[in-house]
Amino acid sequence: MTKPLVAVASLGGTISMSGPGVTPALGAADLLGELSLPVDVEPATVAAIPSASLDFATLGRCLGWARERVSQGAHGIVVVQGTDTLEETAYFFESVWPEAEPVVVTGAMRHPGMISPDGPANLAGAVTVAADPASRGRGALVVLNDEVHQARWAHKAHSSRLDAFSSAPAGPLGLLAEGAVHYFHPAGSRARALPVEPFEDSVPLLEAGLEDSGALLDTVVDAGAAGVVVAAGGVGHVSEAAAAAIERALERIPVVIASRTGVGTTFRETYGFRGSESDLVHSGAIMAGWLSPRKSRILLRLLLATGADRDRLHREFHLRGSV
Ligand code: ASP
Repeated sequence: MTKPLVAVASLGGTISMSGPGVTPALGAADLLGELSLPVDVEPATVAAIPSASLDFATLGRCLGWARERVSQGAHGIVVVQGTDTLEETAYFFESVWPEAEPVVVTGAMRHPGMISPDGPANLAGAVTVAADPASRGRGALVVLNDEVHQARWAHKAHSSRLDAFSSAPAGPLGLLAEGAVHYFHPAGSRARALPVEPFEDSVPLLEAGLEDSGALLDTVVDAGAAGVVVAAGGVGHVSEAAAAAIERALERIPVVIASRTGVGTTFRETYGFRGSESDLVHSGAIMAGWLSPRKSRILLRLLLATGADRDRLHREFHLRGSV
């Protein structure tokens, strides 16, 4: 019987770093070289950078590579990168990946020079998940620490622990045990894949907070931002001054309101004070629902690149930010 084929791209990150003063050094073939896997693997080093320096151009290249590998018969894709922005990459793939073959994103919290590095186990787990027929149709997944997360929920919730990734409040989609993946739920339906269009404009993410004057929002709008995500308090709350700045911004560009808690939904009609979620809804702001501020920024950028108008932005955020 032929073995499943998994294509593995590395982008860099802690999993690939060596030191002292660790920096990216290992490519995909090096990372796979030390593993004995029951599948065929095809390594490709797409980048060797810390994940804070990843950009949409690199992700676009990786997407092109992944599509090509699947068209050539790969049963699944693994993307290896730094964990700092992994939740954004995973959501990017979730939003643009039309294929049934899964894209599994992984990394490591401990670099190879540390005691008990987690990179090899995470990579082996990701390859296992990518090769398993039960992963088909599940879009982009995140695998670390023997857990399988859906890209739309996965986020880095701790700066350094091995169990840094969480899907709160939804919980993981499955677990790895004895070298196999165990899913708790069948694959559900996915939102239609978005096209990836070139886009040069900026889509900043601003966080609301105490004594927020709204001046930073005015500044980014004046500087030519194409759209803005505001990470607002609780269910979508900002100061009175920030609410006024959001209204000014909305006359020129779309503004998405997400919860800066990163784990709960925005509301629409519970609170009525100036700067409340209902006030912002009334002003025309787009509510992110369950999407975190970071994922909202990825979605807003992808949609703006397709030329989406305000109505479409509202619809897409409603669709993709709901459960
Ligand atoms: N600490 C990061 C990591 O886990 C560094 C990075 O994101 O590149 O890989």
